[in-house]
Amino acid sequence: INQMVQNTIQQYGSKTALSHKVDKKYQDISYATLAERIKDFCLGLTELGLQKGDRVALLSENRPEWAITDLATLAGGGVTVPMFSTLTSAQVEYIVRDSGAKILCVSSERQLQKIKDWDANVPTNLQHIVIFDDLQDDSVYQQASDAVGPDDLASIIYTSGTTGDPKGAMLTHSNFMSNAQAAMRIVSITPDDVFLSFLPLSHVFERMGGHYLPLSGGATIAYAESLFTIRQDMQEVRPTIMMSVPRLYEGMHERIIRSVKEGSSTKQKIFHWSVGVGAKVSQAIQRKRKPNPILSLKASIANKLVFQKLKAVTGGRLRFFVSGGAPLSKAIAEFFHAAGILILEGYGLTETSPVISVNQPDRWKFGTVGPIVPGVEVKIAEDGEILSRGPHIMQGYFNKPSDTAEAIDADGWFHTGDIGEIDEEGFLAITDRKKNILVLSNGKNVAPQPIENQLKQSPYISEIMLLGDQHKSVAALIVPSLDEIKEYAKEQQLETGDMAALLQTQEIQRLIRGEINQYSSDLADFERVRMFTLMA
Ligand code: ATP
Repeated sequence: INQMVQNTIQQYGSKTALSHKVDKKYQDISYATLAERIKDFCLGLTELGLQKGDRVALLSENRPEWAITDLATLAGGGVTVPMFSTLTSAQVEYIVRDSGAKILCVSSERQLQKIKDWDANVPTNLQHIVIFDDLQDDSVYQQASDAVGPDDLASIIYTSGTTGDPKGAMLTHSNFMSNAQAAMRIVSITPDDVFLSFLPLSHVFERMGGHYLPLSGGATIAYAESLFTIRQDMQEVRPTIMMSVPRLYEGMHERIIRSVKEGSSTKQKIFHWSVGVGAKVSQAIQRKRKPNPILSLKASIANKLVFQKLKAVTGGRLRFFVSGGAPLSKAIAEFFHAAGILILEGYGLTETSPVISVNQPDRWKFGTVGPIVPGVEVKIAEDGEILSRGPHIMQGYFNKPSDTAEAIDADGWFHTGDIGEIDEEGFLAITDRKKNILVLSNGKNVAPQPIENQLKQSPYISEIMLLGDQHKSVAALIVPSLDEIKEYAKEQQLETGDMAALLQTQEIQRLIRGEINQYSSDLADFERVRMFTLMA
């Protein structure tokens, strides 16, 4: 990583590396300035006693200091332990203690309060706390020493641990760099690229895709002011690449449709009408009915209008979106694609630094997570679990040898816990998560994801989650598509004023149950489906 940063700085010194909002305006930091600040901070850390292999914990939102702390820690031979800025005081304490961090860098007084809450319970390993807000630019530091090699540890990243305590995945410099280089071969990042960074850098997905990858190509990383200002930040920054989780794309899709429906100009009315037709055509295709050619023409007009809207929303320079971390619905990918914007879905885990597979700008298939990236091996075990091996696999879980032995077998295969299949053209599809399998009291195993995917195709269901319960039944938590339900209710001449009450009416409950039956033949195997309808 250090070598990569050095190369970029030499090649692109005067170009903008980082951009961030100060007093409501974006300000740029060049690669040359970044280099100075990394050096200063590295020397500062060394002065505090940082030695090779020491852990530096980092509790901060995305901002230039996040990047500087990470790169300075690595330059000094240290190991970054990033933490979500939303963690509680107790969670921060667990990670600082478990990782044995010597230094903790926090972004602000607000974050510092979490440490003050520890009272006398401060982990003994922690020797120094650095607050970004107090950083002095003119401090005099000594020189950092120890050489850092590719097999040295670069980071310990704690996974959220849906099962048991959080585990620290140990990733080396070469774990990250092999993955960044593989990604580079697929998407080729150039100095003209601009990334808008808003997913937390403490998560491996943004760390690789929104930090090391753009740095490798001399691109610009612009930090969003907050999660609530992304839309405006997008228009100011005009990103060429944006990485996100599916929820953002779902939200954009919902907002575009809604803003058009609510708009009153003639253009918007035409748009509304065409989008409605477009949606009906895609439903007809989903239900395998042949669409009528006139409807198809109207749908293509709708797509052009959606494209104009999207272009305006994203600032007009977008090359593509990237989606990962959770399954992206095929319908959303198709909606954006029809409007001329590609969403490249990828797949990975913290333990795999992270990318295992990703769709490519010239080779993609919706509903899959793309071809396996170069240098990475994947095989499907007999029970369907996805196994992976290669230079991207972590060294193990920090201080947890038995968990490590369970995750990585004697032949070096990492067991992902995800279930999937690879088609004849080499595209990987995730069909479920091993730990998600529902075991009903009659001993029946149910994989929820295929059923959920199926049910999400119903126009009346926006989100769904299946849960097993103690009996021979499954429970379905449903977030209904409110607009569609309202329209249906109007057609049926039902009272549409109080949405909560409307959802509880027999007609609507029957409608959704009918959708469940229509879209999921597998559900017929259960003795009973309990249904809970949630308000969005
Ligand atoms: P844990 O709770 O076990 O720590 P996590 O979600 O925090 O899990 P991550 O490493 O952040 O762990 O996420 C990896 C998981 O995210 C994968 O195992 C997979 O289940 C899921 N995932 C990532 N990308 C996709 C995708 N494109 N489609 C479906 N699932 C995905």
